[in-house]
Amino acid sequence: MSLDKIVALCKRRGFVYQSSDIYGGLNGVYDFGPLGTLLKQNIRNAWVQSLKETDKDIVFFEGAILGSYDVWKASGHAENFNDPMVDCLNCKKRYRADEINLEKPCPACGKKEFTRARQFNMMFKTNLGAAADEASIAYLRPETAQSIFTNFKNVISTTRVQIPFGIAQIGKAFRNEITPKQFLFRMREFEQMELEWFCKKENTDTYFKYWIKEREKFYDIIDIKKENLRLQPHDKNELSHYSSQTTDIEYHFPFGWKELEGIADRGNFDLTQHSNQSGKELTVYDEQTKQSYIPDVVECSVGVDRMFLMVLFDAYTQDTIDGQERIVLKISPKLAPIKAAFLPLTKKLSDEFLPFYKKIKKQTGFDMQFDVSGSIGKRYRRQDEIGTPVCFTYDFDSQKDGKVTARNRNTTKQERIAIDQLETYLQNVLQ
Ligand code: ATP
Repeated sequence: MSLDKIVALCKRRGFVYQSSDIYGGLNGVYDFGPLGTLLKQNIRNAWVQSLKETDKDIVFFEGAILGSYDVWKASGHAENFNDPMVDCLNCKKRYRADEINLEKPCPACGKKEFTRARQFNMMFKTNLGAAADEASIAYLRPETAQSIFTNFKNVISTTRVQIPFGIAQIGKAFRNEITPKQFLFRMREFEQMELEWFCKKENTDTYFKYWIKEREKFYDIIDIKKENLRLQPHDKNELSHYSSQTTDIEYHFPFGWKELEGIADRGNFDLTQHSNQSGKELTVYDEQTKQSYIPDVVECSVGVDRMFLMVLFDAYTQDTIDGQERIVLKISPKLAPIKAAFLPLTKKLSDEFLPFYKKIKKQTGFDMQFDVSGSIGKRYRRQDEIGTPVCFTYDFDSQKDGKVTARNRNTTKQERIAIDQLETYLQNVLQ
């Protein structure tokens, strides 16, 4: 299974395009086409749903993308969010110093003349307004979490949440990666889904374990193959400056086991830093001890795009049906961008079938397709490739018996279903 196959499928079927494609493309930046947009939305919905289904207090939040220097100074990003970089003096190609062997020649031109390694800060910097002075500098956020911490007091004082509780956010993040690669795996503009869980220090460890279990459950719910996932606790020397324990959920990508999601015990590092930097108290009052304290945080952080890529890899299947090879996305029905396809056997039958399609689409609100172009075999293949769980075919018998053929994506098994039962049938398939 290669990355090229996924990239080709994404382009062919309208999941993902290179950004600024007609101008030669922008490296590490992608646009999502009609099907990609639906898949992304379904991924976000599944994540939100999984949080809502816990019995925990979680509120949702949407922070700004631009943040002031102070935010990133306090968080440590201004100083620490660096990757080491070297340039080839001959061909000018740029590398992450920790990703190539500097004792060997440049992989691009074969010469061995590198600059010394220097630290490169990965945040995108910009100026607000017309003045390009120090005071106008702002940064595109490299993670969504910090706006949750800077608004901690606002959320506490404007809602009725009490420790322990969570603040969850889905939003864009930007990192000027030196070498964006592996398609959606390492991008310069991407999206994160982050949960910051605030709790008392004595409960941090329990919640750290609790959230690892919950996140594992989530991957089970969206049908990711168990053998492709593993937990990878960080060694002490791998931990970020803010964390005392971190466990990654890794996925077995074709290019190796890689981080999909990070679950980190951040202690009270962030709130303490922002409190010191801003001079504002970011504490909560404990009725029992009659003392104020800064709560601890357990964070679950995952990229929407990285999850998108993982979902495609996990679902991509090539099999042979009746002697014919096909590509099929065996994606969870919950995530499938198109829930069902309505296929009249011939164009002549369109008019009769179309009203049923429209009615069910309206009643269920599901994203569905009505497709009349090409042979029925071709149309099935098209739907298999985009992961549509079920196709309904209206044929000449349908006129007589009021039934259609329902074809299952995974098994290609077919059964006759009464048209007035289609909605119930579909609801069952999608459960
Ligand atoms: P990596 O080591 O792969 O760079 P990280 O440890 O820097 O990841 P975090 O800062 O923990 O990543 O970000 C949380 C999540 O955000 C990651 O687990 C990943 O799913 C996603 N993510 C991070 N950087 C990128 C990126 N450049 N492109 C796409 N997704 C990303």
